[in-house]
Amino acid sequence: MLSQIPTQDACLSCGACCAFFRVSFYWAEGEIMPNDVVEELTPVYACMKGTNQKNPRCVMLSGEIGQQVSCSMYEQRSSSCKEVQAGDAQCNKARSAHGLIPLIEIEPVLPSNDEDFDQVC
Ligand code: SF4
Ligand code: SF4
Repeated sequence: MLSQIPTQDACLSCGACCAFFRVSFYWAEGEIMPNDVVEELTPVYACMKGTNQKNPRCVMLSGEIGQQVSCSMYEQRSSSCKEVQAGDAQCNKARSAHGLIPLIEIEPVLPSNDEDFDQVC
């Protein structure tokens, strides 16, 4: 399977999860967010505007998905935004929906002494 290794920078050229899920959270989290970026869902829950629709895309996402993106309120983003981590199941589900290859961890290959091979020197 083709893959990329998840790194902290992976999100800067992705943005898929900001345009796939309904990004909902406890309403009080919205109190520290900029005006007019939150939509009320229930008396208890709210979501990021733009994510409660058939083709979701958070209003705070700038740029082109799979190329270069940024979050316009990164420091104030919700707990739901923080929950998705590069390379986890949610991440790769969103990436797949946008035609992006999955991010996977690759176990380091440790050197081993294989007795079937002759020592060169
Ligand atoms: S889908 Fe994964 S890689 Fe893309 S922005 Fe979200 S967490 Fe980052
Ligand atoms: S607030 Fe930022 S991190 Fe959260 S969904 Fe919107 S663009 Fe993505």
